[in-house]
Order: sequence, then structure tokens, then C-alpha cells
Amino acid sequence: MSLATSPVPVAGAAETPLHVAHRQLATAAERIGLDAGTHRMLATPRREMTVSIPLRHDDGHLSVLTGHRVQHNLSRGPAKGGVRFSPHVDLDEVRALAMWMTWKCALLDLPYGGAKGGVTVIPEAHSVGELERITRRYTSELADFIGPERDIPAPDIGTDERTMAWMMDTMSVARGMAVPGAVTGKPISLGGSHGRADATSLGVARIAVAALAEARGSASGATAAVQGFGKVGRGAARFLAEAGVRVEAVSDQYGAVRRDSGIDIPALEKHVSVTGSVVGFAGADPFDGEELLRLDVDLLTPCAVEGVLHAGNAHGVRARVVVEGANGPTTTAADRILHDHGVVVVPDILANAGGVVVSYFEWVQANQAYWWSRETVESRLLSRMLDAWHAVSSAARTADHTLRDAATVLAVERVVEAHRVRGLYP
Ligand code: GLU
Repeated sequence: MSLATSPVPVAGAAETPLHVAHRQLATAAERIGLDAGTHRMLATPRREMTVSIPLRHDDGHLSVLTGHRVQHNLSRGPAKGGVRFSPHVDLDEVRALAMWMTWKCALLDLPYGGAKGGVTVIPEAHSVGELERITRRYTSELADFIGPERDIPAPDIGTDERTMAWMMDTMSVARGMAVPGAVTGKPISLGGSHGRADATSLGVARIAVAALAEARGSASGATAAVQGFGKVGRGAARFLAEAGVRVEAVSDQYGAVRRDSGIDIPALEKHVSVTGSVVGFAGADPFDGEELLRLDVDLLTPCAVEGVLHAGNAHGVRARVVVEGANGPTTTAADRILHDHGVVVVPDILANAGGVVVSYFEWVQANQAYWWSRETVESRLLSRMLDAWHAVSSAARTADHTLRDAATVLAVERVVEAHRVRGLYP
């Protein structure tokens, strides 16, 4: 999509993830003094594929789903990014998420461009067999565009290591050989990496600890609310608690629970493993999930979906630090409000980059067929994350930018530099 065709919302209407991504890029472009042509090039995905996925249901009837893969930028290396299975997936959402992957990979100095994929589907409404058929057909429709040297998928909302195993197998069967570098986030038994499953959460928690240390001297004894208890929020809550942070409230898509003296996270994890939700957890009290965003805590970590902090609720945020475990949880209007209220927002492209960093490690290991220990993975992850944190926080201080502006500027500058030295063909 070009800037010219980017839909502009009417005043007061909700910002879509694509509006948010375009506005963040526009701010960085202005700060850097980027020429209009380069700005337009960075706002426009390099490639977009939309595929239809005919599905034979278990009862024999046929339906047709829609899937997308957007490769936003390929200048620094093959495209990289997750595949989302969700009823909310549409092409514009995938475009936004792909652009954020470009900045995330550049900020962490990974040799990748950015991509994202998705299928518009309610995963819970399908059997395992149906999910496998959806995944394999989606993969084979994209076969000419993805692979270890082109575009490397990974898990995202609604997908997991089983999905990645099916994708890897589908690509391997097509090539007539095992291609373990084709996807990341695979099971360990197929060439997955130690530490990948927890990498995003561990990164979120360590960045939160660093941000809390800067904001209040120490993370120990700080209080936190975690929105989302899935792949990211669950581990983030656990690692925060292990770091001495008191997690007072947790929510998921079904409800929310709070306990002012701190929730026993391992006990809550056990409850969720059995029941599938935080609802009904005996060790805390139920409360309204929207209220979680307004709790008087040191740290708020939105770890669910885009756009949860917006113009309509940002005024109520009382946390001192927001660490974005999700992609795009804060609209640009909310960003401004939080900044005006003195709330420090650690942006997604830094805070949740742990997943793609260990995806990179997994791809390196798979390509070399040489496996690292969990200790090696975790220490290399943490040193990359903390280096990025120091680079962003010192750039923000020097230029008097928000952390998001500083992070986006650093990332965009790296991508622009790759464009500059490669030149334009023809
Ligand atoms: N889906 C994750 C993200 O949004 C991980 C992507 C990857 O590992 O390629 O960062």
C-alpha cells in the first residue's frame, strides 16, 4: 500500500495498526529528515501475497479461507516474521505487523528484513486435522516465496511449534530433503532451539527490569499488571515474579484476576494449564479486565493484541512504565497522552524482540547443524537485548526523544543505510 492510498481515519475514530505503523514511520522520517521518495519506499511493502485456502472439513464439506504473507522489506537479508491464525487477520493488519518486524530486526541488528503472515480463521473452531490441512495448504500456496534464504516464518498468535513442524515438513517434502532452516520456533526434536519458547517473555521481563531500574532505582519490590496470559504474558509474569516484581493483576481474553499482595504465578500457570483461562483461579479475586489498564502499579505490560491502549483509555493509565510485550498495543494518540503524563513506554520493537532474536539463533544453528546449549542461547539473547536497550535509552536521552521515536529512528536509519549502499536496480 502506498502512503497515498493509506486510509486516513476520521477524527476521533480508532487508529488501525496500519495507521499506527505509518504514523510511527512518518515521525521517524521527519526526525531523520528522510526524503519523500525514500519515506514512500519504506512505507510500501516489497511483496504481498494473498492466497485462498480450500479446506475439506472433517465432516466432508468444503470451505475457503484466506491467507496473506507480506514481505515488507528485504534490504538487510531474508524476510522474517511470524504467522498468525486469528479471526482478526486482514491484509492491512499483516502489513503493519510486517513493517514492525523490519524495524525490530534492524534494531536488534539481525540480518533480516521484515515479514508477517496470517490466516483469517478461528483456530479453536477447528480440529487438529483441519488445522494441519489449513497450515499445509497455506504453506504450499506460498512455497515459491518462503524458505531459509527468502522468508522464514515463525509462530505468532494462534500458531505454535506444532504449526511450525507442519510448515517445515510441507516445505521439506516439496524440496525432497529436510530443510530445518525454513521456519523457526520448531520443536527441539526437529532442530528447534533451546530457549526459543520462552525467549519473548524472558526478553520482555529483562527489559522491564532494566526500565524499572532506571525509573525507580530497582525492579525488586515493584508492582506489575500483565495483560494477556498466552505465549508472551505467561512467561513474562513468571520471569517478573522471579526478578522480585510483585505481579498484582493478570488478565486474558476471558477475564482478569487480582491480588494486591501478589499473585502466585506458578499456581496460576497450573490453573491455566488445566482450565485454559485465568478465570476461576482460587488464589486471586476476579475483576474487570479493562480496569487492569488503570491500576496504580509501577509496570504495565500489555502482552495481548494491538490497539489496547488508545485515546479513550490512555488518560487512565497510572503505571509509571509500560513495556509492550504485544506488537502495536499503543496507538499514536495513546502514545502522546502517556508521554504527556510522564509514563515511560518501552516500544514493542525493542521489548518483545527476544522471540525473533532466538529465532535468528535457531536459524543459524539449523543452517550450521550445530546446536548451542540453553545457557549459551540465553546469555547471547540477554546481551543483545540489553545492548539494544542501552543504545535506545541513550539515543532517547541525547536527542530528547521518546524511547519509541529513538528506537524507530535507529532501526529506520539502518534500513536506509542498507538501501543506500545497495543502490537502486536497475
Ligand atoms: N511473532 C514473533 C514477533 O512478532 C516472532 C517472529 C519471529 O521469530 O520471526 O516478533
